[in-house]
Amino acid sequence: MKPKALLIDMTMCVGCNACQDACKKENGLAEGEEHKLSASAYTALEEHDGVYVRRMCQHCEDPTCASVCPVGAFTKTPEGPVLYDENKCIGCRYCMQACPFQVPRYEWNSTFPRVHKCILCPQRVSKGLPTACAEACPTGATTFGDRDELIKIAYERMSAEPGKYVPKLYGEHEVGGTSVLYLSSVPFEQLGFKTNLQTAALPQLTWNVLSKIPSIVTVGGAMLYGIWWITNRRDEVRAYEAALQERRSNGSGAHTTNPEEN
Ligand code: SF4
Ligand code: SF4
Ligand code: SF4
Repeated sequence: MKPKALLIDMTMCVGCNACQDACKKENGLAEGEEHKLSASAYTALEEHDGVYVRRMCQHCEDPTCASVCPVGAFTKTPEGPVLYDENKCIGCRYCMQACPFQVPRYEWNSTFPRVHKCILCPQRVSKGLPTACAEACPTGATTFGDRDELIKIAYERMSAEPGKYVPKLYGEHEVGGTSVLYLSSVPFEQLGFKTNLQTAALPQLTWNVLSKIPSIVTVGGAMLYGIWWITNRRDEVRAYEAALQERRSNGSGAHTTNPEEN
């Protein structure tokens, strides 16, 4: 099977949210419209002055989440999806820190928390079906297909209507390329996209730097940072849970800041 991808043409999106509804149904997630990624929203629509932007995992060609995960809970498949194995995950949340698109979300309130993100519907893709979100999209704003074919289609659209599109296919080269590609009529930076990302894959860059440092420094530094980070996050989570508990005891419905939102 050739590598697959999604092409999201934001000029065609009407903000109907059918993609999120279909995703929630396909993945058995809690119903209800959400405008930010969460443990129960693998894709979410943001509105920027009438332009709708679908946020979701970009399914990087060389994913940083997979390269930093110490137990191999993430796998990039040749077909495109970056999969997550909750049975391997130890909850260190390195993936959340490392993702250049701030995608993975954590079940902060669960006794056995897992990381959540879009997995590009592998159960459908392996059967030759489109992703649930692409199938549900009524306007063709989200389409699924072979990555090379979608890139060709995107360039044909830009060249047929140069006044309609900014001349860029986002995701073609960012961080080494992704399996989610975007077309837009508005400059990407105005829609909250990171436009200063490297075109080299980030794990490759990390390796290039680390490989020049003596291994003792690398291993020791990484371990120290890991210990500091896990301790720091534990403290944040503890403080968050204590504040929640206190508010529950006081009967207050006031919002408590989730450490994921910082
Ligand atoms: S967008 Fe983030 S979570 Fe998704 S594959 Fe890339 S690094 Fe991993
Ligand atoms: S590809 Fe599948 S899991 Fe990902 S956003 Fe679309 S429906 Fe949800
Ligand atoms: S289903 Fe299609 S048109 Fe509707 S919000 Fe999603 S991408 Fe936009």
